[in-house]
Amino acid sequence: MKDYDLIVVGGGHAGVEASWAATKFKKKVLLITMNVDTIAQLSCNPSIGGLAKSHLVKEIDILGGLMGRAADATGIQFKTLNISKGPAVWALRTQNDKMAYSFYMRKKLEENPYIDIVQDEVVDMDFSNDRFNSITARLNGIIKGKKLILTSGTFLNGLIHIGKNKIKSGRLGEGAASHLTEKFNNLGFETIRLKTGTPPRISGSSINFEGLDIHGSDKEIVNFSFKSDGSRIKQLPCYITATNETTHQIIEDNFHNTALFSGQIEGTGPRYCPSIEDKVNRFSGKNSHRIFLEPEGLYTNEYYINGFSTSLPMEIQKKAIRTIKGLENAHFVRPAYAIEYDYFPSYQIKTSLETKKVEGLYFAGQINGTSGYEEAASQGLVAGVNASLSIDGRDPMIFKRSEAYIGVLIDDLITKDIREPYRMFTALAEHRLELRHDNADFRLLKYAKKYHLHNDEDIEFLENRISRIEELKEYYKGITIKKDQVNSILEKKNLPKVNEGSKLVKLLKRPQIEIDDIYSLGVIDLEKYSKYECKQAEILTKYEGYIARQREIIERSEKNESLKMPSNFDYKKFSGLKNEAIEKLNRIQPDSVGQAGRIAGISPADVSIILINLKKGGYIK
Ligand SMILES: Cc1cc2nc3c(=O)[nH]c(=O)nc-3n(C[C@H](O)[C@H](O)[C@H](O)COP(=O)(O)OP(=O)(O)OC[C@H]3O[C@@H](n4cnc5c(N)ncnc54)[C@H](O)[C@@H]3O)c2cc1C
Repeated sequence: MKDYDLIVVGGGHAGVEASWAATKFKKKVLLITMNVDTIAQLSCNPSIGGLAKSHLVKEIDILGGLMGRAADATGIQFKTLNISKGPAVWALRTQNDKMAYSFYMRKKLEENPYIDIVQDEVVDMDFSNDRFNSITARLNGIIKGKKLILTSGTFLNGLIHIGKNKIKSGRLGEGAASHLTEKFNNLGFETIRLKTGTPPRISGSSINFEGLDIHGSDKEIVNFSFKSDGSRIKQLPCYITATNETTHQIIEDNFHNTALFSGQIEGTGPRYCPSIEDKVNRFSGKNSHRIFLEPEGLYTNEYYINGFSTSLPMEIQKKAIRTIKGLENAHFVRPAYAIEYDYFPSYQIKTSLETKKVEGLYFAGQINGTSGYEEAASQGLVAGVNASLSIDGRDPMIFKRSEAYIGVLIDDLITKDIREPYRMFTALAEHRLELRHDNADFRLLKYAKKYHLHNDEDIEFLENRISRIEELKEYYKGITIKKDQVNSILEKKNLPKVNEGSKLVKLLKRPQIEIDDIYSLGVIDLEKYSKYECKQAEILTKYEGYIARQREIIERSEKNESLKMPSNFDYKKFSGLKNEAIEKLNRIQPDSVGQAGRIAGISPADVSIILINLKKGGYIK
């Protein structure tokens, strides 16, 4: 087989974005994956986005990635979450046609002339001289490449648990990758077991939907991608039901039969996404848990039973599920299961996602300890860009925590000791107001431009959109609303009246008043602006003070980010540090004083000692 610039192992969410991103740099990519039919498979929930994850999707979109476009094109339900709260935590979530999503991605990759796709299993890799040289695929043999991105998801020594049953598998019905972990361990890489789980899939024709609450799409649909034209495939509703005391009793009686409680599972699972047995155990006072019945697509009758992930034996799963309203006659198409897999604790990678030990080898996705399609896709994109930049001898693309959720994600990975599946939450971002899901273009367009991640037309569109929002914000500043008109709005909202007219911007700063209220007075002309632009200008006006304060904080905190730490350094040479701090600094090798300060176990006092030593050693002025 011919040589490639980049070899991407794994066609999951990380692998797809990595391959796609590298082609922006005209790199010849080989995407090698165990089963071409499962490219970009939504292994668990047929859904994209949600709290904090939607921020990642929006960022991926501005950085030229595919996820947002695929989610828009294959969405069977669109919902903006948290709309009653502040814009920092608004989030879009789509329910997706699982097969259409996968086909969309596969087609995009197949149509790209820089990508070759091969179905095969990678069983070995050559890392002689501490650099990546080639892979060995089971059927295709040795294939050389300049860089390698490993995105093998839950497949490294994947082991499925259903009650006492154990199946070697990366996903139910697929094989596990059993040859690679040992290779990495022999090179000195650390691997640990993690665990995740999935609920059963039930045939829709066996569900009695009558009397269940219906959960439909928002009336006003918004998109993830600025490139989406708003067209929709058929929309489908979800249904809501709940467990009850009988369900819980069956589960409790069978705690000893679950792989989770019997000690059969070694790996740590996500606390934020507990299995049903975990919920029944941890919240024993609660006699009901909500269950969402989510359609898996337009061409299948399967329903994803959201909220009922379990490792109970098959017959107990059936017994428990059939106690739930609407599921009395449930026909199981696929069982729920838990899966354990190997991951690489992520202190072993750099901010670029290149491994510290092997030059030219990048890790992205679930193997870095994350969980979730969006987290995987974000890393894939970054790894694809950085591997390409490295081939061209350029510096990596690195985001600050104040610039992007992707920056927060990667900084957390390389800085924190991740020992349970990591997923993105808005609470993890300290600069939330700045990192809204609606302003990814303001924050990241400069990177899209610098690395040509979009074509000229799209860049021009985004630039124009930003200038129009700035222009609109200025326009708002010049408008004064007469007293009677102000009072007509206030009256409708049961707010006390005023004695004089008001500047539009002052009115907008009131939480209860929106630009639509002012528009309805007929005193402003917004005809030439899109709804999105009007809303953006409104947010920037309404939260101007808070945003300005946040920017001051960011500026102050960035002082420590710009103070670089020495690389490959032995911190025993720094006097005054306690052993725990030395061990952590030696292991993580932070890039900056700012990053050092975020390491768990490094105190503000340690940071002062580091600063003194850096000055003494002449590392900083
Ligand atoms: C049962 C289950 C439950 C889950 N539950 C949740 C959940 O509740 N919440 C959540 O957010 N996420 C969940 N996930 C995780 C979510 O699916 C992943 O986070 C996401 O898919 C990771 O993307 P990835 O690209 O890293 O890997 P994957 O999507 O897993 O893709 C890995 C790809 O690598 C390929 N591959 C592996 N080894 C090799 C090899 N040696 N040679 C060639 N190809 C190889 C595989 O064929 C596969 O295509 C779950 C996953 C599973 C399997």
